Amino acid sequence: MDRKRSSHPGGGVTEKGISTMIHEEDKGCEHISVSEKEFFKTAPHNEAGHSEQCSGHHHHVDVEETSGTRLLITLGLNLIIPVIQVIAGTFAHSMALVSDATHNFSDFTAVLLSYIAYRIGRKGASLQNTFGYRRAEIMAALLNVIILVGACIFILYGAIQRFLSPEVVSGKIVIWAAMVGIVGNGFSAWLLHRDAKHNLNIKGAFLHMLGDFLTSVVVMISGIVMFYRPWYWLDPVLSVFIAVFILKNCWDIFKSSTKILMNATPSDIDLEAVHEALVSIDGIKSAHYLHAWPVSSSGISFSCHLVVKDQMLTEIEKLSKSIRHMIFHKFGIDHPVLQFETELCGRGTLLCETFAAKTKRKKVDQQNRISINKGNNGSNDQPKAKIGPKTYGYLYHIARMVLGVIFIYASLDKIIHPQAFAQAVFNYQLLPDSFINLTALILPWLELILGCCLIFNRWMPGTSVISITLLIVFMAAILFNLSRGLDISCGCFSTNPEEGSMNRLTLIRDASFLIPAIYLVFMSLFKNNGKNQFEEI
Ligand SMILES: [Zn+2]
Ligand SMILES: [Zn+2]
Ligand SMILES: [Zn+2]
Ligand SMILES: [Zn+2]
Repeated sequence: MDRKRSSHPGGGVTEKGISTMIHEEDKGCEHISVSEKEFFKTAPHNEAGHSEQCSGHHHHVDVEETSGTRLLITLGLNLIIPVIQVIAGTFAHSMALVSDATHNFSDFTAVLLSYIAYRIGRKGASLQNTFGYRRAEIMAALLNVIILVGACIFILYGAIQRFLSPEVVSGKIVIWAAMVGIVGNGFSAWLLHRDAKHNLNIKGAFLHMLGDFLTSVVVMISGIVMFYRPWYWLDPVLSVFIAVFILKNCWDIFKSSTKILMNATPSDIDLEAVHEALVSIDGIKSAHYLHAWPVSSSGISFSCHLVVKDQMLTEIEKLSKSIRHMIFHKFGIDHPVLQFETELCGRGTLLCETFAAKTKRKKVDQQNRISINKGNNGSNDQPKAKIGPKTYGYLYHIARMVLGVIFIYASLDKIIHPQAFAQAVFNYQLLPDSFINLTALILPWLELILGCCLIFNRWMPGTSVISITLLIVFMAAILFNLSRGLDISCGCFSTNPEEGSMNRLTLIRDASFLIPAIYLVFMSLFKNNGKNQFEEI
């Protein structure tokens, strides 16, 4: 790439020193300030410098704060419990115990990895790693997710094997091994509950331990049931639920970690509000090219351009100090980099033009030309980029309600009569015999969960995509059997074979369900995506 070095048109001034810019045609600019060293000395993220003004109100909670012995106890417990449970699970032929153990072991690796990451993260910045090593914790979290997903695949595979060839589960061993989990997790929860009232992080850990405690209770109840009744299918069903629970946790960790790696704006920061707060300060004509991003799970970095009138650098320093203090206390931004200018360096949009979508930039151009013609250049009336939550029309909500009710209604009869539904699946003559019982057991529950997700608007693009996939699979099966002339009932809503055999009307009925499904997929996947990132008013 051919980059032309040139001085900044606005004569950009950072807090201490003049910045030089590398311009790349008109694709915006990269900001390199000469005096990063001086900046770090005075920046408020430097605790010593900041505490001169105010003290005693910065609560950082890290592994650091939990005492060493308590950490050791937690680590020890979370290692002993899963070891006992895995051994017992193997003897008792219980998949539920093994999956409960997997979760408990994952808690052990999570604590261990975050501790190791914390030790690595304590290493300060170097010339090679100017941000330090604080993102090591994100790497650790992702590593843990990979391990857990692997474990879940193992559990699900084992559960499927159990569905295909059920084994006798020893209820007695399950009860005793689950007791170990109950005592261990209960003790951990009790250790944490005293501090949980005062500290959000510890409260989160406490609630997690409470959840683990309840999981072990459910496993124990299944052991009691299997002790008296030979309902051994209960065991793989339970292990699937626990695996799904683990995967849900993985998804949450994965989402928050990738957000940090993508330099996404922290969810508690409203960039428009920051912009508003900045331009409302006396002496600031305009604020543009705002970036806010987390370096790790604590601490927020921030950079922006500020247009001010030409003045002494010492005046700018006073202004800068009050800005830093304001955005730290109002938004928790602890590492701001401010670039002061006496005139706009670009088009003055809230979002940095280097990263703006190409199609949208033309509109910004037009808008800006209008505002320049009006003579508003450099004032607060810049075209603003809007960041807002997804908004949907009422059609979207009707579509998901209708589809949700259809799915739930379809699932109920099959859940009540699994054997009759297995017969219906068998009649389709599509699946190998070994998969028929499994399908008949899982499919109705999948429909029920999907229906609930649709009605409560949960996990949205995923829910709509799975719904439409299911509908298409059903239609393909019906179409296939119509074309080869099989005279069977469809089994969509009723497991009663007297219901009558399926015909073209069945196909048309199922096809009509596709209409809301397609609409949902389209709305949840493609609509509003652009608006989320960049929109002009
Ligand atoms: Zn302060
Ligand atoms: Zn846990
Ligand atoms: Zn600028
Ligand atoms: Zn930028």
